[in-house]
Amino acid sequence: MGNELLNVVKTLNNGVKMPGFGLGVYKVWEDADARDSVRTAIDHGYRLIDTASYYDNEDGVGAGVKESSTNREEIFVTSKVWNEEQGYDETLRAFERSLKRLNFDYLDLYLIHWPVGDLFKDTWKAMERLYDEKLIRAIGVSNFNIHHLEKLMNQANVKPTVNQIEYHPHLTQKEVKAFCESEEIQVEAWSPLKRGQIFKDETIQSLAEKYGKTPAQIILRWDIDTNVITIPKSVNKDRIIENSQIFDFSLTAEEVESLNQLNKNERTGPDPEIFS
Ligand code: NAD
Repeated sequence: MGNELLNVVKTLNNGVKMPGFGLGVYKVWEDADARDSVRTAIDHGYRLIDTASYYDNEDGVGAGVKESSTNREEIFVTSKVWNEEQGYDETLRAFERSLKRLNFDYLDLYLIHWPVGDLFKDTWKAMERLYDEKLIRAIGVSNFNIHHLEKLMNQANVKPTVNQIEYHPHLTQKEVKAFCESEEIQVEAWSPLKRGQIFKDETIQSLAEKYGKTPAQIILRWDIDTNVITIPKSVNKDRIIENSQIFDFSLTAEEVESLNQLNKNERTGPDPEIFS
């Protein structure tokens, strides 16, 4: 299984290779739980871990990476600068704090968590500096709509490599995804399982039956088949393993389209246009 996971790699627009499948750790508030789930995931083939300063578990994530059976250099870790940490000087300090909590000497990917007002432009300048100083291998954004990306790219020296957005069959983000693809910005899905609120859908259930898979596995396979990096969250060992067992089948073009058609523009999280 580990080998199959290692094959799912995306090359970002700066040449850095990013695993196409990983573990999310939002709402894993206890460091010990974050440590254990990260270690379990890595020991079962995961190579991408998604955290954020806001999740308050970077200590646990760093410990899990360290205690796992795999070298730090083989693991791709993402963190994010939180809304209240944005601005030039604040971002430099926030990054230093994240790196210290993770107990790393570099980070693989650093994202602007949300497009706060006009502040994100200064945040980006700080991230470009950290990137130039080789403290971060790639920089990107999260929850950016097309107009946010345009505003950022108008003044950026370094193009964002990734846009991490809420993405599942009830929120397919057609326009943002097409824009990102045309700009070679890799789309990454957050809440890919709609936080468990989508498993009863009939189309998903019938595909699950056809392939002898669970609804979660069908949705995660759809992420892979639609060229989107995915980071399902679980702290449960069996589910961590289950979620990664999606490389022994694939969906037909018609089945991918039938899942695309489930879109209802329905969010589990805030809308980037009106978040506070
Ligand atoms: P998710 O869609 O990954 O759902 C997680 C929930 O689904 C779990 O708590 C569990 O209850 C359930 N689940 C997981 N695997 C299952 C399985 N095999 N069978 C049945 N139930 C299962 O939701 P999420 O945690 O919100 O999103 C994933 C990750 O995305 C987060 O952990 C975080 O890293 C990231 N994220 C980023 C942002 C952002 O603003 N950038 C926002 C939210 C989440």
